[in-house]
Amino acid sequence: AKAAGKGECRFYTQDMTRAANEKLSLRQRLVQALIQGEFRLHYQPQVELASGRVVGAEALLRWPQADGTLLPPDHFIPRAEETGLIVPIGRWVLREACTQWMRWQANHNVTLDLSVNVSVRQWEQPHFLDEVREVLRETGFPPERLILEITESALLADPEDALALTAQLSDLGVGVALDDYGKGFSNLYQLQRLSVSHLKLDRAFIQSLPGDRRARAIAQSAVTLASGLDALTIGEGIEVQEQLDALLAMGCPLGQGFHLGRPVPPEEFQQRHLMGTRP
Ligand code: C2E
Ligand code: CA
Ligand code: CA
Ligand code: CA
Repeated sequence: AKAAGKGECRFYTQDMTRAANEKLSLRQRLVQALIQGEFRLHYQPQVELASGRVVGAEALLRWPQADGTLLPPDHFIPRAEETGLIVPIGRWVLREACTQWMRWQANHNVTLDLSVNVSVRQWEQPHFLDEVREVLRETGFPPERLILEITESALLADPEDALALTAQLSDLGVGVALDDYGKGFSNLYQLQRLSVSHLKLDRAFIQSLPGDRRARAIAQSAVTLASGLDALTIGEGIEVQEQLDALLAMGCPLGQGFHLGRPVPPEEFQQRHLMGTRP
């Protein structure tokens, strides 16, 4: 038993070293990926529930690996945030998404909204707003079509900065979506003061619809609250028709989820959701 214990200890140390190397090399690989342009964006449709019309697209970051797989953001965004690399990565995301939208616009004369996720590390940067302005100017993107998605917890963690930021974005004409709404035990006092154009009701509540009375109550209250704040609710993670029906019955205007369309590469998004929209 002792020998095994010693062996385990040795492996444990090796594992620790390996873990440390992987951590280091993940940072280095992220830098490489950024420099070599390895990142891709997929787009998920946002749908007007009553009509089924695609009215927007959310850009979601993907990292193709040498073995052909796509690394989802949960596997590398936390590390990108720790290292600050999310700042240049996020800068790339915004520019790329706006550029893609302009191509769609040219081909299909679309008037979709474009949602882009922004991490707190990004918008905390002193020049964040200037960068947004610059991307809009350089790409010619219409500000009123852009929605920046910021998690509820991030906004509420730093309410004074959030207040200033959302006010300035709204002056620019850019929308702000409160992402993962309901997960952060919304601070209603802060919400009262923020300029928010969309509430994205977290998937956790949608999943339990329509059966769960408590989830229903929360979803309904979000929809009512949003409309009182002149914001639109987007139900996230709609996977089955029953969830869509429940949201519709509550008066939820917008939705997103596998049932309505998965995140797909831009060419496929165009094929699936924009063909035939040329007026
Ligand atoms: P999120 O912003 O809440 O994005 C929605 C996530 O839910 C996406 O996962 C999407 O693929 C997934 N999803 C959509 N519909 C359904 C559904 O019906 N069922 C289920 N089970 N899942 C659904 P994804 O693409 O893996 O992104 C995960 C998170 O990574 C995002 O959550 C967002 O917080 C972050 N992220 C993605 N792209 C970016 C980015 O460009 N910048 C930053 N800062 N964060 C990003
Ligand atoms: Ca989002
Ligand atoms: Ca601050
Ligand atoms: Ca979300």
